[in-house]
Amino acid sequence: MTVTSASPEIKIELHKSPVSDAERLQALEAPGFGKLFTDHMVLARWTADKGWHDAKVTPRRPLELDPASAVLHYAQEIFEGMKAYKADDGRILLFRPEENARRFAQSATRMAMPPVPEELFLKAVEALVRVDKGWIPSGDASLYLRPFMFANEAFLGVRPAQEYVFCVIASPVGAYFKGGAKAVSLWVETEYTRAASGGTGAAKCGGNYAASLVAQAEASKRGCDQVVFLDAAEHRWVEELGGMNVFFVMNDGSMVTPPLGGTILPGITRASVIVLAEERGFRVEQRPYSFAEWQEDAASGKLVEAFACGTAAVLAGIGLVRHAGGEFLVGDGQTGKLTSELRQQLVSLQKGVTNDVHGWTRLIPA
Ligand SMILES: *Cc1c(COP(=O)(O)O)cnc(C)c1O
Repeated sequence: MTVTSASPEIKIELHKSPVSDAERLQALEAPGFGKLFTDHMVLARWTADKGWHDAKVTPRRPLELDPASAVLHYAQEIFEGMKAYKADDGRILLFRPEENARRFAQSATRMAMPPVPEELFLKAVEALVRVDKGWIPSGDASLYLRPFMFANEAFLGVRPAQEYVFCVIASPVGAYFKGGAKAVSLWVETEYTRAASGGTGAAKCGGNYAASLVAQAEASKRGCDQVVFLDAAEHRWVEELGGMNVFFVMNDGSMVTPPLGGTILPGITRASVIVLAEERGFRVEQRPYSFAEWQEDAASGKLVEAFACGTAAVLAGIGLVRHAGGEFLVGDGQTGKLTSELRQQLVSLQKGVTNDVHGWTRLIPA
């Protein structure tokens, strides 16, 4: 094991990959999503007396937790999802990582956890990508990065914990949906909700996902790929999918996406899509959109496309929409033209193919 120092704060302990070069290259040909992992991880600790300390890149290995660790009982846990891309010329790029760092800090604050300084977050992610750069697939695939943080104080009293672990792991990924560019089908959930006003809907916390799984299981049972949630107060307004934001494209040059306001996760893909769509001359309305309006607009032909978006899937067209009272198609049920174009535009930016006029990509020095 070699110990070097990449920066004043992050120690690097390397180990020889347990996987041969040939095995790694073979695994990278069809990585799937979230089941293949790289050789290293980042760890840092927070205690009340020392603050954040002991940040390091170490060989990836199981974590040892006290069974009384607060996260196992009261779910103080948050995470991020971002990707590192390999350009055709070999450069390694991150997409708007400062936004992930900022959102991670905001999620921490909402969950009464100590925010990871944005500089430490960025350095940690970059250090891991550099150490495990042999695991970044080329072509359409990428290296999915999962920074996360949890309470590990061994204490069963109910209050914010006084010890935390920040960790970053990395997973080479291919397409999120098995069908590729095929449109996804949605189940409209009218019983279970994802987030309520005043709750944690805008924080990227594991608890939101735990709360969404029974609805996602219901969607699968109904033969749908994903669930779309309505608001918790009236069960009337479209919110988002379990892990993706949603957009509606109209035939009059306008687009609608539900407004942020505490119950919707402020997606970085969502924010980027708004900029790109406005540059194309679309009028993007961030306003409440009811399920009734969605049905009417689909029936009248006003709604021409709908798509879901997030880091993992980038953009996915919405085809079939199924609900308790029946089902309908958006457009012809296929991924729409604007959806395909925006998806391609984003991927080209992320992979450094097109000129980054927005300053969204961040080069990781080799
Ligand atoms: C992460 C996430 C998104 C998408 O956010 P991106 O920054 O675009 O990846 C949307 N909704 C939920 C609930 C999420 O957790």
